[in-house]
Amino acid sequence: MEDVYWADKIANKILEKNKDVYVIASGITPSGTIHIGNFREEMTVEIVRRALLDKGVKVRYIHSWDDFDRFRKVPANVPKEWEEYIGMPVSKVPDPWGCHKSYGEHFEKEFEEAAKIVGVQPEYVYEHKEYGACKYKDGIKEALNKREKIMEILNRFRKEPLPSDWYPVQIYCTKCGKDFTKIISYDGEYKIRYKCKCGNEEEIDFSKQGVVKLRWRVDWAMRWRYYNVDFEPGGKEHSTLGGSRDTSSIISKEIFNYEPPIYQMYDFVILKGKGGKMSGSKGNVIALKDLNEIYLPELVRYFYAGTRPNTEFAIPMDDEIFKVYEDFYFTERVYFGKEEVDEKKKKHLKRVYEMSMIKMPKELPIEIPFKYLVFLSQIYRDDDKVIKKLKQTGHLKETLNEFDDKRIRMLINMARNWADKYADEKYKFQIHEEKHFELSDNEKQAIKMLIEKIDGLTENMLYEIGKESGLGKEFFKVCYKILLNKERGPRLFELIENIGREKVKEILEKYV
Ligand SMILES: [Zn+2]
Ligand SMILES: [Zn+2]
Repeated sequence: MEDVYWADKIANKILEKNKDVYVIASGITPSGTIHIGNFREEMTVEIVRRALLDKGVKVRYIHSWDDFDRFRKVPANVPKEWEEYIGMPVSKVPDPWGCHKSYGEHFEKEFEEAAKIVGVQPEYVYEHKEYGACKYKDGIKEALNKREKIMEILNRFRKEPLPSDWYPVQIYCTKCGKDFTKIISYDGEYKIRYKCKCGNEEEIDFSKQGVVKLRWRVDWAMRWRYYNVDFEPGGKEHSTLGGSRDTSSIISKEIFNYEPPIYQMYDFVILKGKGGKMSGSKGNVIALKDLNEIYLPELVRYFYAGTRPNTEFAIPMDDEIFKVYEDFYFTERVYFGKEEVDEKKKKHLKRVYEMSMIKMPKELPIEIPFKYLVFLSQIYRDDDKVIKKLKQTGHLKETLNEFDDKRIRMLINMARNWADKYADEKYKFQIHEEKHFELSDNEKQAIKMLIEKIDGLTENMLYEIGKESGLGKEFFKVCYKILLNKERGPRLFELIENIGREKVKEILEKYV
């Protein structure tokens, strides 16, 4: 049957290249917090990797950290004083938080750890090391010698032509470390002479001194050839007509004689409710590690796997999270044949599910409504107690397999994290076991009635107590005030049931 899933289609195109090992690549500049929009770069490649593996071929997945790129501007979450490092490679800028060797490394490591959790583990290439070790010296030399041809290509897309003294490289000054340098002469081999704004003027040998970097569009094309890249996606901002992808492709063909990799544009990931694209400099970003706190790894993958790359999607951090969990559970049940959908949809959802899972479970895993876990995880701060309760309510079997045990523990923590960090007031509460206010006589009477009836309590009785005591709806408010120190909360009967009748009785007795 013909492949219809997006990553399978890309994989088929890649296979037309007919090679022993297929190289697929992604790249990100660690210029600030790497957000869930940037992560689409890696996730697109990761899913294509899985599609290729399913076709039984060998794959090498390289992720480039473009950390030899210059530090351009100070993002909102970094101290303003970092302005003094502008012009240095991000691998040379100090870590504002002091926990890593450099600014670039801080964001790289933070991201690598989060990516590992969702099963993304490419071969990481650190460009400051490659450039620093002069690995690309021949590509640099080639570009310098074809300088005029490169200018002619770039000028095809420019209103203002490049100045005649333009070079396809930038040089980081050996004295001040910044790239405020101007090239004076080039010998056609490896020697280049420059003058820096700081006053330093010298000749360097770039086959021995790793301070020369190709400019972006040339750099991208050179590395496609260097690593034999067969597939690399690019963000929407690179995909415009005459944008960096277009020009890099021409440079790849006409300068480096290399057929550019197969391409896939990917669209933005939207922050729900805010619209538009996330921006590190504006500070309105959600990092992968933030998602990992509230979404199962398979669910994080599901977002990216379930949407074609050229379509934008939103990841909700608000109470729409409940629905996302339900949608994922539905997909899971379809995979395990527990839901009836038409053949076309079934085929699609099964493929999405396969791409979402890091490790395939043998049977349908446990699927506890996230909303219920938000509720339970706040009643019991102890995970084992939540699990015990879920067993009593029949949500969990008495014995759990390894997969389910791991899943439920993650879910409990995620529900709690969500309640703590993102939930609206109406979902948040804490059980107050100690007496924290005085009741009126009337209220005391009502609470006494509740204590008497608590063993055989039904939901209806709560209304009756309200009526009999003359408090009406106020009776519910009094109960919430006692148990949660709030005027409202989850359904009172459910709340009492879940806290446990004995425990509730114990608390109420302190008030009468
Ligand atoms: Zn750090
Ligand atoms: Zn300098």
